Amino acid sequence: MFDAIFLDRDGTISHDPYGYINNVSDYHFFDYTFNALEKLSSLTDKFFIVTNQSGISTGKVDVENVENIHAFIYDQFEKKGLPLKKIYYADNYDESFHSFRKPGIGMFEQAEKDFGVDLRNSLMIGDSIVDIQAGERCKMKTIFLLTGMGHDYLSEVEENCEPYLICDNLLVAAEKLL
Ligand SMILES: [Mg+2]
Repeated sequence: MFDAIFLDRDGTISHDPYGYINNVSDYHFFDYTFNALEKLSSLTDKFFIVTNQSGISTGKVDVENVENIHAFIYDQFEKKGLPLKKIYYADNYDESFHSFRKPGIGMFEQAEKDFGVDLRNSLMIGDSIVDIQAGERCKMKTIFLLTGMGHDYLSEVEENCEPYLICDNLLVAAEKLL
């Protein structure tokens, strides 16, 4: 059904307690995340995670810790047999159109280049307006979640974007898609 499903990280598949996470021991998936991902895996054979981590450039987040968190995420997906192809992250503040930082589309273009992803037949799921804007720029279907920062962005998203679905969380989104 989808060539790929792109997931935001913080606030989408995992808790986002401080707006950034700098230690793998602070990184916690939502309790329903893998149940939801298992359902979503019947709709695609490629997952990607695309995450803004500008805390790297401000010194709030260390790149080694980001790499540790991502090693943990790869491991957990692999244990569940979920086809996570790649985690892309943006370490900058540049928000130009082709920037890696969402709403820039650089991470999506990189997935297109690295894995031949057909973006127009893919889905983006996230809890920030930038997730939805980046997805729309790539002509992807988008789902906006009310976890993480979702409630703060809801009115802005409703005014400026056209998400395919707005859902309470990732599990509800997966159930609605099925
Ligand atoms: Mg987020």
